[in-house]
Amino acid sequence: MSSPSSTHPLPSYLDPQHLGPWGIYLQQVDRVTPYLGNLSRWVETLKRPKRALIVDVPIELDDGTIAHFEGYRVQHNVSRGPGKGGVRFHQDVTLSEVMALSAWMSIKNAAVNVPYGGAKGGVRVDPKKLSKAELERLTRRYTSEIGLLIGPTKDIPAPDVNTNAQVMAWMMDTYSMNVGATATGVVTGKPVDLGGSLGRVEATGRGVFTVGCEAAHRTGLKIDGARVAIQGFGNVGGTAGKLFTQAGAKVVAVQDHTGSIHRAGGIDAHALSEHVQQTGGVAGFAGADVMDNDEFWGVDCDILIPAALEGQLTEANAGKVKAKMVIEGANGPTTPEADDILNDNGVLVLPDVISNAGGVTVSYFEWVQDFTSFFWTEDEINARLVRIMQDAFSAVWQVAQENKVTLRTATFIVACKRILHAREMRGLYP
Ligand code: GLU
Repeated sequence: MSSPSSTHPLPSYLDPQHLGPWGIYLQQVDRVTPYLGNLSRWVETLKRPKRALIVDVPIELDDGTIAHFEGYRVQHNVSRGPGKGGVRFHQDVTLSEVMALSAWMSIKNAAVNVPYGGAKGGVRVDPKKLSKAELERLTRRYTSEIGLLIGPTKDIPAPDVNTNAQVMAWMMDTYSMNVGATATGVVTGKPVDLGGSLGRVEATGRGVFTVGCEAAHRTGLKIDGARVAIQGFGNVGGTAGKLFTQAGAKVVAVQDHTGSIHRAGGIDAHALSEHVQQTGGVAGFAGADVMDNDEFWGVDCDILIPAALEGQLTEANAGKVKAKMVIEGANGPTTPEADDILNDNGVLVLPDVISNAGGVTVSYFEWVQDFTSFFWTEDEINARLVRIMQDAFSAVWQVAQENKVTLRTATFIVACKRILHAREMRGLYP
């Protein structure tokens, strides 16, 4: 029998020394708790993931050696429906990070009111170092290993950092082969010919743009002529850059893992997007000047869009931000300390849990289309996406005004109430 002193009251993943992004999420929950009324009795439920699975993913490399990678699938909460959230392939992925990302999915899905809980997956691998055949073996083995958790009515993965429609096609095929029937609804973000949805690739960036326009309209910021700086020019940042450009804004600075570029007169977002697709990054783009990486956050602009990874805006650089508005395309790019600095400086932060919810919203449309085997037009999809984003943003804006809180806390209020109300109505069983 263990002595009381050997039993730590907290689960190991809550060890304050190793909290990482999960620690940031916990602080965000603490900030919302005073606004939850009687539902705060259930708040502890949000501070623990429902299930976390760690899997070993062994594959044979092309040179015949055997490599092992660590994979995860975390279901944070399934009170409102099946788990839903992407799978990320990145060399720095950790369990704590995937836990945080799964929790942010719970909040995001509830904020836009799609009938899902929150989940996320990841493999600790640098996919750029794998051949296509190795990547396929990794994806298939990972899918088989998490097969006991996923399924069209249980938990539905989707693309995230470094995963795409091809990876989703392999996941769908592997799951289908294992269960003995084609199950298109097990993942979203698939190729359009395989049960994917029109508009899904652009959906996250379109959501970022829509929410940005809604906030601009309410604060008197003109999109036409606005200067935009973007970190990350992949699927999310690239699409947002193109949509803002089409609306008359100018992309003046872009940063990614290959460097930072700047042009006060405006960077051609379409040309840059093509360059990034061909070369893997913004470095070497002829249509702009190189900028020091450290100067990016303080660049003269009206709108700043972090659309890469977590923990980018911190207490070290938040004070430099000149933008009037930050739209979070990435998940978790701003630390709570940076949130406070930005707020004190009058910078409006549109939080990830609403701004980047366009992706999962069209994932929901894809899942519904797969179940009914009836596919919608791109116009229908975009119109429904814009309506959901506008309505969700409007509700969050109103809650922020009523309670005099930030948009992040307001989004958490709306979402946590929905999740915890579902939890309370369902009750504890067994
Ligand atoms: N990975 C995306 C996100 O972070 C999309 C998730 C999904 O479509 O399920 O929101």
